[in-house]
Amino acid sequence: MTSKKVRHILDTIAGMFPDAHCELNHSNPFELTIAVLLSAQCTDETVNKVTVDLFRKYKTPDDYLAVPLEELEQDIRRIGLFRNKAKNIQSLCRLLLDKHGGQVPEKHEELVELPGVGRKTANVVVSNAFGVPAIAVDTHVERVSKRLGLAGPDDTVLQVEHKLMKQVPRDEWTITHHRLIFFGRYHCKAQNPQCSACPLVDRCPEGKRRMKMPIKRKSNK
Ligand code: SF4
Repeated sequence: MTSKKVRHILDTIAGMFPDAHCELNHSNPFELTIAVLLSAQCTDETVNKVTVDLFRKYKTPDDYLAVPLEELEQDIRRIGLFRNKAKNIQSLCRLLLDKHGGQVPEKHEELVELPGVGRKTANVVVSNAFGVPAIAVDTHVERVSKRLGLAGPDDTVLQVEHKLMKQVPRDEWTITHHRLIFFGRYHCKAQNPQCSACPLVDRCPEGKRRMKMPIKRKSNK
């Protein structure tokens, strides 16, 4: 069951970012998979700049395999780790053609078998492309969850994901993922969280610490 504290956090963040959404431009599951793969350790903004031309040139797995690796590297060179990512894209495309008829599979367990696709990417793809509820934990979701006490400070990314899944109603997983990202990206920033103007400061252990407010040792209710 959702505790009062969690409900309050979800409702507050919903009020702040009602239209939170995936900021990676894409028009189908395949483009989304490529975009998320490119976004590792890179901003969505940079990925979107690169995919304008990339998605115009490469529309199918065959297209990515029709060029030498070096050409694909050049096409994504503005993105960090571009050599590795270019290699993964071509391996992924080969596997899509060999095992999935050139289509992005809908099952999480099949997605994580694809080169360059980890648990987070698979969660983003199933939730955004196929409508399956999931909470992808990226750097923003992890940081915000830990600051707000939704997860422990030493929790692994997987533990954070499991704790969020337990506390957040299933039909709100996907939108909560987007809202936590927006909240982390534009408000509870890594270097300069806006604690003094934060509507959650009275519920936030990290905010209280930063604002030097007394921290009540609490129940979660
Ligand atoms: S009080 Fe500060 S640390 Fe806590 S959620 Fe708000 S901005 Fe983030």
